[in-house]
Amino acid sequence: MEIVFENVSFSYLYGTPLQVDALKDVSTTIKSKKINAIIGPSGSGKSTMIEMINGLILPTKGIIHVGKHNLRKNIRIVNSNKLRFDIGVVFQNPEEQFFQKTVRKEIEFGMKYFKYKVDQIEKRTIDALKMVGLDESFLNRDPFKLSGGEKRRVAIASVLAFNPEVIIFDEPTNGLDTTSKEMLIKLIKLLKNKYGKTIIVVSHDVDTLYKFVDNVIILSNGKILAEGNKYDVFRNIEYLTEHGVKVPQIVEFIHKMELKTGKVVGNIDDVNDLIKEIYQNV
Ligand code: ADP
Ligand code: MG
Repeated sequence: MEIVFENVSFSYLYGTPLQVDALKDVSTTIKSKKINAIIGPSGSGKSTMIEMINGLILPTKGIIHVGKHNLRKNIRIVNSNKLRFDIGVVFQNPEEQFFQKTVRKEIEFGMKYFKYKVDQIEKRTIDALKMVGLDESFLNRDPFKLSGGEKRRVAIASVLAFNPEVIIFDEPTNGLDTTSKEMLIKLIKLLKNKYGKTIIVVSHDVDTLYKFVDNVIILSNGKILAEGNKYDVFRNIEYLTEHGVKVPQIVEFIHKMELKTGKVVGNIDDVNDLIKEIYQNV
């Protein structure tokens, strides 16, 4: 599902100061069936963008096309239920989205809300748990009494279970160990490649993002600083650095290597592949 921002601005009113212009005339496209990253320092407007895609807040100016939904100021979202069914959000802090007493109820909630059939609910619950690497013994556990990594997995499972077309992950790798990060990357790639999902990942962690995303949108102070496929965007090392955006280590390393050796290494996503490439050439 394609998501198009057309000259979208958003201001929070009645805050301190009285008005915060969180997004300023943003036009961009989130690509269908790709992994899209929204990157930017704290306060740059990432969460505001996500909340607008989800219909939680409406633009102060401009319009957002989320598939067939058109979101603009002063509309009542005619199909707000349908929008919520299309867009699944895994929030930054899983606790924020938990409100059930067991993992099973937590995962079932979305499907019940969207009126899935009982036998489907049972099957999809177990499938979703498996996809995030948890077994059935978790079903009767209290979601609030799990480890950080397990909570994150349950939060993801409860979104996967109702099968939205777009899945948004807000800072999904925060606080995860290396193994859980790798699991998450595999899962996100699977969601794109096997299930054709449109994925949006919000993160500061450019080194991890670079391994698996397709497109990036870089926000700075409510505006788009750069966007496009990750190779093109991160090629502009100086420009990004000047604007305080961290460039993935692998990109810097390849750039230095190319300068030093005069040979073009090209686009490589993962350090392991880079090492292989280097070994082949010594
Ligand atoms: P990010 O997710 O990139 O950290 P946000 O979208 O949360 O950024 O915030 C963008 C700007 O809007 C920031 O200046 C932030 O302080 C402000 N902001 C966010 N939420 C509110 C709110 N509820 N009321 C007033 N200002 C807000
Ligand atoms: Mg945020």
